[in-house]
Amino acid sequence: MILSVTMNPSVDISYPIQDFKLDDVNRVENVRKTAGGKGLNVARVIKQIGEDVLATGVIGGTIGDYIIQGLTKSDIGNHFFKINQESRNCIAILHDGKQTEILESGPILSAEEGAAFLEKYQELLSEVSLVTISGSLPSGLESGFYRQMVEIAWEKGISVIVDTSGEPLRQVLTHDVKPFAIKPNISELSQLLGIEVEESISSLKQLLTNELFHGIEWIVVSMGGTGAFVKNGGDFYKVTIPAINVVNPVGSGDATVAGLAVALKRKQSVPDILKTAMTTGMLNAMEAETGYIDREKFGQLFEMVEVIKID
Ligand code: ADP
Repeated sequence: MILSVTMNPSVDISYPIQDFKLDDVNRVENVRKTAGGKGLNVARVIKQIGEDVLATGVIGGTIGDYIIQGLTKSDIGNHFFKINQESRNCIAILHDGKQTEILESGPILSAEEGAAFLEKYQELLSEVSLVTISGSLPSGLESGFYRQMVEIAWEKGISVIVDTSGEPLRQVLTHDVKPFAIKPNISELSQLLGIEVEESISSLKQLLTNELFHGIEWIVVSMGGTGAFVKNGGDFYKVTIPAINVVNPVGSGDATVAGLAVALKRKQSVPDILKTAMTTGMLNAMEAETGYIDREKFGQLFEMVEVIKID
C-alpha cells in the first residue's frame, strides 16, 4: 500500500462565467466542486492504476467532511487527522478563456496539532511500503516539517517521494536523511537554485550534480510537453514523450508522482519506471478532470515514451 500525504487539502470550486463582471453580480450554473490538493490527485491516480492507496493529512470542518465523502465515493481509503478549524476552499473563475483563482490559505495549525499528526502518521506507516508527500505546508507548521516526516519513514525503512517547493523542499534536501525521490519542475528547480534553469541536457546534468541533490536516488525534473530529465543514482536520462491532445495539464505533475510511486513499488526496470511516470502525467493532461486518467490509453502511450541514457 502507498500512503499519500496532503497537509493542506481543499475543496476546489470552479465557476464557469462567460462574461465575468467586476464590481457586479455574477450568477453561475454549472458549479463543480471536487476534493482538491496535490496529494489527493496523487491518491486518485494511484487508485486508477490499480494500486492500493491510503490518503492522509490534516482536515477539518464541513469542508473536511466533504473531502472525505469525495474520497470515500471514489473508494480511496483515508485516515486524516481532524482539527477544529475548517479546511479551505480554492476557487477558480473560468471567464473569457482565462482562469482567475482565489486560494484560501487554510487553517493555521498549532505545534501540538503538528505533533499529533506525526503520531498518526507514524501509526499509518506500519500499513504501507512507500510514502508520497505533495504540496504546501499549512500555516503554523515549521518549514522543516516534511523533513521530520522523511526521517520518521526512514527509521522504518520506508522510502518517501517528496513533491513540494520553496523552503520546505530546501529543508528536506539539506537534511542528512534524504528522500528517495523528488519531482521538481523547471520553475521549482530555478526557485530552489536561485537561477534561471535552462532546459538543455548539459546544463541540467551539471545542476543535478549540485551537492544539494547528493544521496537522492531519483530526481525527476518534469518539463511539461518536453518530457523529463532524470538522475537515478549516478546515471542521467532524457525522457521524450509523444505529442498529445492536451485538454487540461493541471495536476499532471501529481499524476507523474503517482506513476512514479506505483512503478517504484512494483520494482519495475529504470526505463519502465520513467515510462510509467510520463504516461500517467500525459494521461492526466489529456482529460478535463484533474487527477483523472483513462487507463485504456495507457499501453499505447507507454510504448511511445523514449528513455535515452546520457553519457
Ligand atoms: P507540474 O504539473 O508539476 O508542473 P509538468 O507540467 O512538468 O509537471 O508535467 C508532468 C508530466 O506530465 C510531464 O513530464 C509530461 O509527462 C506530462 N505533461 C504535462 N504537460 C504536458 C503537455 N502539455 N503535453 C504532454 N505531456 C504533458
